[in-house]
Amino acid sequence: MAVPLMDPTAQIAPYMTELEEIASEVLRSGRFIFGPQVEAFEAEAAAYVGVKHAIGVANGTDALTIALRCLGVGPGDEVICPAYTFFATPETISSTGATPVFADVDPHTSCLDVDDVRARITGRTRAIVPVHLFGQIADMTPIMELARERGLAVLEDAAQAWGAQQDGVKAGAFGDAATFSFFPTKNLPCFGDGGMIVTNRDDVAELARMLRFHGSKDKKLFTHVGYNSRLDALQAAFLRRNLPEVDGWNAHRRQVASWYEESGLGDVVELPLVGTGNTPIWHLYVVHTVHRDQLLAACAERGVGATVYYGEPHHLQPVYADLGNAPGDLPVTERLCSTGVALPMFATMTREQVEEVVAAVRAGVPARVGG
Ligand SMILES: *Cc1c(COP(=O)(O)O)cnc(C)c1O
Repeated sequence: MAVPLMDPTAQIAPYMTELEEIASEVLRSGRFIFGPQVEAFEAEAAAYVGVKHAIGVANGTDALTIALRCLGVGPGDEVICPAYTFFATPETISSTGATPVFADVDPHTSCLDVDDVRARITGRTRAIVPVHLFGQIADMTPIMELARERGLAVLEDAAQAWGAQQDGVKAGAFGDAATFSFFPTKNLPCFGDGGMIVTNRDDVAELARMLRFHGSKDKKLFTHVGYNSRLDALQAAFLRRNLPEVDGWNAHRRQVASWYEESGLGDVVELPLVGTGNTPIWHLYVVHTVHRDQLLAACAERGVGATVYYGEPHHLQPVYADLGNAPGDLPVTERLCSTGVALPMFATMTREQVEEVVAAVRAGVPARVGG
């Protein structure tokens, strides 16, 4: 039995005809950009996350760029972020003209290590961008305390964490602002590109609404150089239908994680650990092993979709060669990048599929000695 890494079509199969009707309603409405669907989704999304404002944009990458600019990040600034993340995190810092300064991550949660962040703050540091990697929230209490103490802005990159919680607070409700992606494989998906900025700050929301719309309030007076970055009505309508499903999907993902735990998989690979107070939503289920190549080969042979996320830390990517980073700078990140592998994880995954994955992993990886 082949098991895919993820299965975005299976989770919408039960209400496919409803989605088709929604598409046809939008087509007949004649409102394709902004309009009532986008406004309604923004209100529903803000209520879900527990924040004052939600601003729909074209994708999660634009959301980061616009949010960074709203927080005052620009040329000459430094922004601290992890190197263990999707490239959009440092890429958007660079695109504002600022410099990404990479900090190491916690070996258990794979999210920013606050002590290493503290050590990298300089007089030029403007902001911190914690990434809620693989669906688990970074340790936000000490990060917010540090930021307040040093006068820094905090932007949560929550692209992988829609619905995740820490001490009862949802991803996106901790920082000065947060960003989401609705890329089709994210936990709350649309069926194309989509993204969002959320914030409790009125000034950030107002500027974000202008920057996504060519730096203008009315398309007559232009006060900033902005972007054309809009969430369209079709995606917003789909997102409104998917939003009530996401807690159920996330709960099933946690069920799959506990099946992996019960299966004894932890005897052969390191399973991801959950940080204190966290309710993760397992955007990806990443395990660690020094026998990664053998694991990948055994999974490939059985049609199990194990894949490496992220194999090369960003401080060592060619694009950042001029920053003077060197191997060994971020020991935890470098170890996680060389040993991590994502196993199949999706909202419709069955126990049989989990067992199939576990059998494939066991075939590739010898039992760990001494735990
Ligand atoms: C997916 C993702 C993004 C970018 O989102 P897009 O919608 O693909 O532009 C940014 N950061 C992280 C951590 C992501 O996983």
